[in-house]
Amino acid sequence: MERAQGGESSKADALAGSDTMTVPQTMKAWVLGDPEELILTEKPVPTPAKAEALVRIDAVAICATDLEIIKYGTPALIEGGPPFNKNFTPGHEYMGTIAALGPGVDEFEIGDRVTVEIHAGCGQCKRCRMGMYTSCHNYGLNYGAMDKGHRANGFTTDGGFAEYAVNNINTMIRVPDEMTDEEATLVVTAGTSMYGITELGGLVAGESVVVIGPGPIGLLAVAVAKALGASPVILIGTRKNRNDIGTALGADVTINPKEEDAVERVMALTGKGADYVVDCAGNETTVNQAVQMTNRGGRICLAAFPKEPVNFNLGAIAVNNIYLYGIRGEGRSATHRAMAFMAEKRFDAGLIHTHTFAMDDLPTALRYARDRVDDAIKVVVSNKLDAKT
Ligand SMILES: [Zn+2]
Ligand SMILES: [Zn+2]
Repeated sequence: MERAQGGESSKADALAGSDTMTVPQTMKAWVLGDPEELILTEKPVPTPAKAEALVRIDAVAICATDLEIIKYGTPALIEGGPPFNKNFTPGHEYMGTIAALGPGVDEFEIGDRVTVEIHAGCGQCKRCRMGMYTSCHNYGLNYGAMDKGHRANGFTTDGGFAEYAVNNINTMIRVPDEMTDEEATLVVTAGTSMYGITELGGLVAGESVVVIGPGPIGLLAVAVAKALGASPVILIGTRKNRNDIGTALGADVTINPKEEDAVERVMALTGKGADYVVDCAGNETTVNQAVQMTNRGGRICLAAFPKEPVNFNLGAIAVNNIYLYGIRGEGRSATHRAMAFMAEKRFDAGLIHTHTFAMDDLPTALRYARDRVDDAIKVVVSNKLDAKT
């Protein structure tokens, strides 16, 4: 085996299959200062511990939750409190190349391309033991001396807007050679959609599925539902360009609620209402639409996090024996199931990727994502590009 020479991390591309990769002592990393303030700084490269690996970050997708964390702090939780001015690096939808292994790790090799899911549960609480590690009871109790083994990179531990990150081996999924870095960053988003649909029961073949809200999770929920054989798959959204992407991802019908009554149309298309509704918008209008368009005995998945309490027709849920599911993140290894579909090209998640910027241009990339500049959907930052601005 050849030994890596020099300290250039970009040379590591040539090292796949090697047993070593030169890792520098320090790295560039963005850290959160005050709300809305990101600072590019130097940090020590972290060292992987037992059951962990060091990932050289190649690309990171920006998520609406990153924008929330940078502005409001929540749902990030650092040392039991808000993440501001704590040298915290956000970013959670990343992929890269394994650069070093913790003691005893033989599940991966240096040079493996991996994409990550966010939550490494503590592995010992009741929910982790059930596979519901995104609902770990020890969420956030792992910084400093409070080591409960739980990580949620970009939420409770350092994330991906940097050159390296440490990941628990349970959070890493191998990336096929032919999959691009950008597409690989979308696996965790597809995993969230997969988690929602599989928590609803998963056996959606021949059943009707309505997805409300064509954001990244909603669009990939359309793709996953279609790949699982749902029929019809109906997408509800107010933006034509996004509904068109939904059609390309497998929606049989798209409904623009600005142009027609979404509930009436779903009832007309399904007869007695939809078997499954996945609400990826999470506002009062859409939650009530979901309740009204679900058939008796049907199931609703709430995949969005409304900021305010929502009024909805609880009685209709009980009278119609409707089941209501909340989902958090991408539990029960759903990300692996999503990767299986993407590796087999059952759908092209890349359709939701719209822009790539250099990591050094992160503020520009965040602006594109936040303001939906140039119809941005998924904006990716890459460590393989040079800054433009
Ligand atoms: Zn996310
Ligand atoms: Zn746990």
